[in-house]
Amino acid sequence: MLDKTQFRYRRSDFGPLDVSLKHLDIEVCFEGETVRARSRLRMEACKDLSRIRLDARNLDILSVSWGPENQPVEYEYNRDSSALTVLLPQTIAEGTSFELTTVTTCVPSDSILEGIYKDATPDGCPQQYISQCQQWGFQRIVPIIDDCRAKCTMVTTIEADARYTHLISNGNISREHNPSGEPVLKPGDPSRKIITYDNPIPMAPYLFLVAVGTWDVLSDEVVYPSGRKIRLEYLVPPGRIDGARLPMEILKTSVLWQGQSQEYEYAHDVYRTICMEKSNFGGMENVGNTTIVTDAALVDEYTTDRRLAYAYGVIVHEFEHNQCGSDVTMVTPFDMWLNEAFTVDVERQFTHTEFDPTVARLEEMGAVRAPIVGPLAIEDAGHEGKIVREAFNDPDELVDGLTYVKAAEVIRMLRLILGPKGFRKAKNAYFNRYTGGNADTDQFFSSFQEESGRDLSQFRKEWLHSIGYPRVTVRHRYDAPARSLEVSISQDRVGDGGAFHFPLTMAAVDSSGVDIACTSSVIEVKDTEQTVVFNDVPKPAFMSFNRDVSFYGTFEDNSSTEDQLVAQVRYDPNLFNRAEAMSRLTDRERVKLILDPSAPIGETWPELYHEILLDHDLPQGLRSHLLSIAEMSLQREYLPFYCERYQARKRLLGEVAGRFMGDLVGAFDEIDTYTRTPNLKDGYHARHLKAVLLRAIVEADTPAAHKLAEDHFHAAWHISDKVSALGCIRECTHPESKKLMSEAFEMWKDHLSAYITYLSLVGTGGDPEAFDLVDEEARRNTFRPDHPSHTRALYVPMTTNNGLLWTDKGIEWVADIVLMLAPINENTAIRLVSCFQLVEKLAEDLRPMVRQALQRILHGVDGTSCPALAGRVRSFLGSGA
Ligand SMILES: [Zn+2]
Repeated sequence: MLDKTQFRYRRSDFGPLDVSLKHLDIEVCFEGETVRARSRLRMEACKDLSRIRLDARNLDILSVSWGPENQPVEYEYNRDSSALTVLLPQTIAEGTSFELTTVTTCVPSDSILEGIYKDATPDGCPQQYISQCQQWGFQRIVPIIDDCRAKCTMVTTIEADARYTHLISNGNISREHNPSGEPVLKPGDPSRKIITYDNPIPMAPYLFLVAVGTWDVLSDEVVYPSGRKIRLEYLVPPGRIDGARLPMEILKTSVLWQGQSQEYEYAHDVYRTICMEKSNFGGMENVGNTTIVTDAALVDEYTTDRRLAYAYGVIVHEFEHNQCGSDVTMVTPFDMWLNEAFTVDVERQFTHTEFDPTVARLEEMGAVRAPIVGPLAIEDAGHEGKIVREAFNDPDELVDGLTYVKAAEVIRMLRLILGPKGFRKAKNAYFNRYTGGNADTDQFFSSFQEESGRDLSQFRKEWLHSIGYPRVTVRHRYDAPARSLEVSISQDRVGDGGAFHFPLTMAAVDSSGVDIACTSSVIEVKDTEQTVVFNDVPKPAFMSFNRDVSFYGTFEDNSSTEDQLVAQVRYDPNLFNRAEAMSRLTDRERVKLILDPSAPIGETWPELYHEILLDHDLPQGLRSHLLSIAEMSLQREYLPFYCERYQARKRLLGEVAGRFMGDLVGAFDEIDTYTRTPNLKDGYHARHLKAVLLRAIVEADTPAAHKLAEDHFHAAWHISDKVSALGCIRECTHPESKKLMSEAFEMWKDHLSAYITYLSLVGTGGDPEAFDLVDEEARRNTFRPDHPSHTRALYVPMTTNNGLLWTDKGIEWVADIVLMLAPINENTAIRLVSCFQLVEKLAEDLRPMVRQALQRILHGVDGTSCPALAGRVRSFLGSGA
């Protein structure tokens, strides 16, 4: 049941539109602190109309007029419901075209990062303005039918201070108004300039962009095999051109890769990437004008490896949106998953060509299994999980792990079920059918069903419309005399619903580490119990199931012995499953310790760990994952055991540090990350491996371990090495921890992405003083509470600091910070409060404290201005809210 008081918007709120929007002429004039806009909307009535409702949020309405003669008309503006109702001078018959003109002003904000807002301004330059319209930002600029279906052509004219280097909107520069392709000075006022853009391809309002600012430009071009050229531009903060050189190379590679792999050619002449500093999101596709946060858009010596990998992903992601999002647009926000799931899937495919694909997949599973924002964790909490939501308070709520991670897994499963060829055929049919228009979930599945001839109703029902995931267990039995292998698969599930339809990849592996040919397969599972028999096969050494994780959910192999898991770690041809088998072995020790902190650690796991530690032939990326000791358990029932998992991890790290210190240090010293490499990507895995080794070493907490970490911090040239060294220093009782943090602050405070990296270290480590350090940090004049990247980086890491968080002080701290942030940035406040999503599953002693903190947040937060936050907290509290 849907709690009616809990949500603002339901699908039924998105009925048929009264009008079809045909064309918009907009003049946007930046005048001091306000922006004045004149907008002429050309529409056609879809039914007989005597009034029309436009969306208009926080605008001052100066005039509304009618027809080509601009006759004034009556209107009512209800600010609370953001509705501008225009009383038409006569009834407009269905099918009739008409025009309305509005003149309005808006006041760009520092902290509401929607509509036009104030971005960081380069020194000595006029105030920088940028816009974000997804989902309902356009109505903060001009009155509009702010609906994905209101696609129309546009002509946009911008007038602003002549000192800006760029005035930008969607479309091509109108040669009629700007013959040189540059803005022209305003007649009679040389301090102002004007430019007009013509956008002849119908576009949804959420993709609108207007930006005025001061940027340097790096330009290049890419030529498709067809001979068509696309001009590429990077608009960067003054003096930062060098940071765009590698991203430009990545962009060129990804445009051609995307053209070939997705059979798609970009339709416009110019593709711009615009650096912005403040955003609640990493980037936004605005048809030809992608905005990306500067710290992710530019790559330089301050870019961490994580940021570098993100840069590869976000560049191709935003470019893919030209096809999936801009050309074929979702019908309502309820179909937003369609835009994102497919786009993330394409982004992942590209990442797999640029990085070690095994490691890339391991990192994707890290996102699936992440303890707070990961979709499995969201579903474990039981409040959400449906990819196609039934209701929401704010469309920003849809930007989460369900839309971006679970939904991408669903697309991946669909490809495994249909096979790459079948998937491609259906995908192309879908894009061909809906290009230039809108498509919803039904239309997407109809295309796939028609093209493949398959019934996907079960697949669709459980994956898109139910909360939860399958918990799959298998048993296998080899009958030696009959030479047959029987595999029994059973599924139950988290959440209410029926059996899932999913692909299960598998192979039986022989003792020389080779797949037994006929057993390597993708099994389609649709029932709660299913059995597969392979005849005439030799005895397998072990079974390798769920290779590369072929379905979204959890998996247990109940028949594999410890020896078989060890064999799998040593020689499964599927490298991903070698790491997965190691995680299972680690998990056996971890779970013992969660249940009994004084339990002895078995012999098999440390010995295998040692063997891997000494194995120099393993690829570095895989080796780092094999040796990494995480806090998370693969068995999700232990997720709410935050303190116990934290302690168990420390025991396991202490065990390897105690037993293998010499070899850990030896392995650490052997890896050279100090020699500079020409390409930043080189050394990616080596640095990660060194970080994993150092984390185990510092668990010993000895002066020698402290020194090793400190020396690493000073010897390293790459910021990722420095960050992992500092992170390890924060985890132990290093006497100079504060001094080294100050050193890092001085080194990084003037560079945005480095400063953000620094901020993210403050709330880490086991020292209870960390809370005070976070407070002190927030008081420094470098810290900007209205800067979303600053607040996210400083506050969010504490929510995963399970050594400190689950105390009176930690729980109260979360409530205090959420209340403080709510009026400044609701988005970050929601990220923070999510650490309490499992409140009902917490241990007896913690649950009342967390409930109390949630109640305090609910009472302290303004439900009208922060509906999404209030709704989220109410759902955590359930009926007791
Ligand atoms: Zn996206």
